[in-house]
Amino acid sequence: MKRTHGCGELSRGNVNEKVTLIGWVAKRRNLGSLVFIDLRDRSGICQVTFDETMAAKVQEVRSEFILQVSGTVQMRGAANPKMKTGEIEVLAEDVMIVNRAETAPITIADDTDTSEDNRLKYRYLDLRRPVLQQILMLRHKVCMIARNTLDAEGFVEVETPILARSTPEGARDYLVPSRIYNGKFWALPQSPQIYKQLLMIAGMEKYFQIARCFRDEDLRSDRQPEFTQIDIEMSFGDEDTVFAVVEKLMRDIFKGTIGVDLEEHFVRIPYAECIRRYGTDKPDLRYGNEIQDLSGLFRDTEFQVFRNVLDNNGVIGALRFENAADKYSRKGLDKLQDFVKHGFKAKALAYLKMENGSLSGSVFKPLSEAEREAIVKELDMHDNDLVLIIADTPKIALSALGALRVRLAKELDIIPQDVYKFLWVTDFPMFEYSEEEERWVACHHPFTAPKAEDVGKLFSDPEHVSSRAYDLVINGYELLSGSIRIHDQDLQEKVFEAIGLTMESARQRFGFFLDAFRYGTPPHGGVGIGLERLVMVLAGTDNIRDVVAFPTTNSSFDMMSEAPNVVDKAQLDILGIEITKKDSE
Ligand code: ASP
Repeated sequence: MKRTHGCGELSRGNVNEKVTLIGWVAKRRNLGSLVFIDLRDRSGICQVTFDETMAAKVQEVRSEFILQVSGTVQMRGAANPKMKTGEIEVLAEDVMIVNRAETAPITIADDTDTSEDNRLKYRYLDLRRPVLQQILMLRHKVCMIARNTLDAEGFVEVETPILARSTPEGARDYLVPSRIYNGKFWALPQSPQIYKQLLMIAGMEKYFQIARCFRDEDLRSDRQPEFTQIDIEMSFGDEDTVFAVVEKLMRDIFKGTIGVDLEEHFVRIPYAECIRRYGTDKPDLRYGNEIQDLSGLFRDTEFQVFRNVLDNNGVIGALRFENAADKYSRKGLDKLQDFVKHGFKAKALAYLKMENGSLSGSVFKPLSEAEREAIVKELDMHDNDLVLIIADTPKIALSALGALRVRLAKELDIIPQDVYKFLWVTDFPMFEYSEEEERWVACHHPFTAPKAEDVGKLFSDPEHVSSRAYDLVINGYELLSGSIRIHDQDLQEKVFEAIGLTMESARQRFGFFLDAFRYGTPPHGGVGIGLERLVMVLAGTDNIRDVVAFPTTNSSFDMMSEAPNVVDKAQLDILGIEITKKDSE
């Protein structure tokens, strides 16, 4: 007998039909002489009822046994609204034990109580949890839609090497020793950046790849050592061309997976304005509460603290939250104070509250009557409003206020759910100064084009060179990065020089790439979309491991196969490698 339906596919429309199901036992209950078994497969869970005559046949059956059951679908006495198939059950007429199972070492249920480490150790059992299976199927669907949409738009999927040369994305490389070229190493690609640009030079015009990328980064809970990008590159376009493709792709993916209609075009905000308004380059636009610059109100202030800050080119920034004054007691405000002092090195956090028509707060006294009135007017303060103020260097004040904005939005529960706010952040700075390396480094990567009007400042004023790099942000998360690239060999060499790469070392690392520029390079640009991040947003999870079939722990360790691990001495000998120092045992 073959299976006729998936367990999760049955509904009242199948009543009186004879069906055959195959699945795992999710749960078993005995009720007098009856036995109820919840049978699970990829499509869902269905209750199977065994009457007195059948019960004996499933006496030894326990969780995770695999059963093949034939029977008739019938309405249940009492429906279970929590189950998709909750209105019906299958009355068993025949049953076969397909396979037995030992007691599972983890709890296989959506609301499992097993620790994550243990679940990762038995990931193949963890993946039987419906919630994870749904996410893997969602991820598959995202990839299918991406392939279909990009194909329809004229893009060609091309695979690029995994064994490659180092690419400059700013992280550490994973290295693979070469046996044939003893003493030499491959680097696993941090992204297919160089290859996709070479494909443009090769005349492919529109490329994409669902590409695995590898970055040996310091441990962070939202990172995995390997991850996937929907990697895109196209010739003969500009920002508008690239954005249009990504917007179409996002519209198709959101509609095709969670049924959400996105707007035709996403908002664009230049980086500098974004930092001024939100204190971050990945703002969550599901709520307002923008940073207000109050510096202008205090030009002639006698309040010494504000005076000093303004005299030293600082800013006075503020955030206003409605219906929040009564929610933040002295103790609550102290916690916010600690948060900005320890997290952002802010000197202090000041506040004002409007309660029953009167103003109070930590800076009430030192400010003049006129200044208080000006604040109330400027911020449009109403009853029960809370205003938080930071006076500090622009960098500290804006980043601290940006973080407070996010923290209070969460604490006050003002973030609407099931809303998706996309935002292009454009005109990123070209360079940032690395204290560690004591030189300017590329903010995005060194193939990003500077804005044409800023090329003259590459050496004289690198801090103020804007680039043609952009990010797409959704609900406070960076979903992708990309840029319009340099396609002129001279300019590329200048940019290398600006970041302190001598022509000699640039030639040594990317000589083949620089050479390629000499033979007719089209203008081009692209993006790398973080697939895991995208699926996380669609699935509504904060845990990156939920969207990866076989993830590593936060400390980049595979609990299941216990990788990385030692290898035989013979394997190392062939590679000419000797381990001289072990500090992780
Ligand atoms: N290679 C870039 C990255 O991984 C994306 C791009 O510029 O297309 O961030």
